[in-house]
Amino acid sequence: MKKDILSYDLDELCSEMDLIGEKKFRAKQIYEWLHIKNVHNFSSMSNIPLSLRTKLDEIYYINCIKIVRRLESSIDNTVKYLYELQDGNHIESVLMEYKHGNSLCVSTQVGCKMGCNFCASTIAGFKRNLTASEILLQVYTAEEESGRHIDSIVLMGIGEPLDNFDNVVRFLKMISCETGKNLSLRHVSLSTCGLVDRIYDLAEYRFGLTLSISLHAPDDRKRSSIMPINNRYNISELIKACKDYISVTGRRISFEYAVIHGVNDTPSDAEKLIRLLKGINCHVNLIPVNEIKERNYHSNRNSLNNFAALLEKGGLNTTIRRTLGADIDAACGQLRREYEI
Ligand code: SAH
Repeated sequence: MKKDILSYDLDELCSEMDLIGEKKFRAKQIYEWLHIKNVHNFSSMSNIPLSLRTKLDEIYYINCIKIVRRLESSIDNTVKYLYELQDGNHIESVLMEYKHGNSLCVSTQVGCKMGCNFCASTIAGFKRNLTASEILLQVYTAEEESGRHIDSIVLMGIGEPLDNFDNVVRFLKMISCETGKNLSLRHVSLSTCGLVDRIYDLAEYRFGLTLSISLHAPDDRKRSSIMPINNRYNISELIKACKDYISVTGRRISFEYAVIHGVNDTPSDAEKLIRLLKGINCHVNLIPVNEIKERNYHSNRNSLNNFAALLEKGGLNTTIRRTLGADIDAACGQLRREYEI
């Protein structure tokens, strides 16, 4: 079986060249063709000798993903892509336009194992991890199709990034590689439901990215009732890992909180949240819960504003996330669900 050349980082590609008896400097040339010039076949690599191009073609393939649906919001230019992978599976990315530039939300797995009960990505279950090339190609393909430059990336699409740790780390190295897209990891956010062991591992890499923690509830009883992961790692273990992350990386953490009316938006929830997060170098991002067919969850604007005001008063740095692409169901997992039914 041919090997996926687009999933090797530059060091790995150097080792591959060694392995096939080629000079190491070829790795950099090939990497540029793949990750800067984004060619789709070896025959376009004009500074590579024909014999090597033929050899590469025998041993490797250049992965690609196909756009099978494209939805554009008429409200705010948000574009949602449904991609088909080589094996017929589907994933989604969402391109959003902000004042400071374009941001792409990418998927890291086909489906998800985490089972958060408000999330559309988990309902159809887990199929497999994405390879590094499949994560990168979401960026390259969206850029090529839209003609827009992607300035920032959020790992907040389908899947749990820290449950696909090695490929996500490889992706982060590759997207920030000087020989590739050279995107500063300051412009990358990674969101996790709280795989505590992996948070410690991630801290060791000292990437400059922003870590977002999907908290969604201020105490273990409530959190476990909506997020099964809380039975494996409870809130106090999670907060301990977050503090470690902040002290190792010097970066502040963003806590995501999907506000669900009647579930986690009471004044007492706000008080508990303040007690939990006070003194931590962090930011709270309130998200009006996206309604999905399978659940009767909704958010109430008054309670949401009230909740935000209480957090601010309690000394927490708080924002309410703007909803983009409301007319195209831009929340993660929704399009794949529709398409695969
Ligand atoms: N698995 C990762 C990243 C994917 S989800 C994580 O859990 O963080 C990206 C964010 O959207 C998470 O904060 C997730 O909890 C949130 N989310 C999922 N479904 C939602 C919904 N219906 N409404 C609002 N936020 C939702």
